[in-house]
Amino acid sequence: ALELKRGQKFYGENEVIKNVSLKVKWGEVISIIGPSGSGKTTLIRCLNGLETLNNGAVWLQNKPFLIGSWSGEKYDEKNHLGRIVHVGMVFQGFNLFSHLTVLENVMLAPLYHRHDTRIAIRLLSLAMLQKVGLAEHANKYPHQLSGGQQQRVAIARALAMQPSVMLFDEPTSALDPELVGEVLKVIEELAKEGMTMVIVTHEMNFAFSVSDRIIYMEKGEVIHDATPAELKQDSQPERLQRFIGRVG
Ligand code: ATP
Repeated sequence: ALELKRGQKFYGENEVIKNVSLKVKWGEVISIIGPSGSGKTTLIRCLNGLETLNNGAVWLQNKPFLIGSWSGEKYDEKNHLGRIVHVGMVFQGFNLFSHLTVLENVMLAPLYHRHDTRIAIRLLSLAMLQKVGLAEHANKYPHQLSGGQQQRVAIARALAMQPSVMLFDEPTSALDPELVGEVLKVIEELAKEGMTMVIVTHEMNFAFSVSDRIIYMEKGEVIHDATPAELKQDSQPERLQRFIGRVG
């Protein structure tokens, strides 16, 4: 599993993540919800080392993987490759290289980081494009695709590194409403295949249908960590009910 143990993160004086612990088991789908500024994005960026924790640590496969910078322990270089290989990330903006074709975008990271032959990586990348329904667009450039298609390419690109865990940071919030569904459908398919995923999202209906657990954050703290069924119960605090009602 991927595990955050007592994670703490400051930006200056501002404590953005307050002693958060979180366990993601293999095959589990976890959605992170909460108001703007509650630390959702920072939390998942800490999970793959895009942001450095100050205290606490991220563990991967029962080994410390990313250690808080204030702990005094040295970062273990051996784990660097683990970070790149095991945890895939999809951002709000698609961040595709505009001068590379769709297929070249997907092949880029595996070409750098994997020891396979170019032909093997090409086949794998085409298979990932097939998975997101875009194989026939392999030779196009990003600007020739819709936002929804570009985000599906970004998902294929992350999958081409054969990650053990996929992190999604508000994957549909930059999209026109009519393009949201096609991206959520791809993520739903991955969930059905058993991919381990952590998804920051404002799409409540999606979060409730796809997740094994939903984590509700406020001001850098995990307020609730529960199954969708539990979260829907009337006994939940009013502010959470309001939040779910407002966004969903
Ligand atoms: P949203 O739903 O709006 O994306 P969020 O829950 O993902 O919000 P974060 O983006 O993680 O929240 O931000 C949490 C807090 O950290 C906010 O107060 C934000 O202003 C602050 N913050 C985020 N990134 C930085 C940064 N690079 N430097 C300083 N402060 C930051």
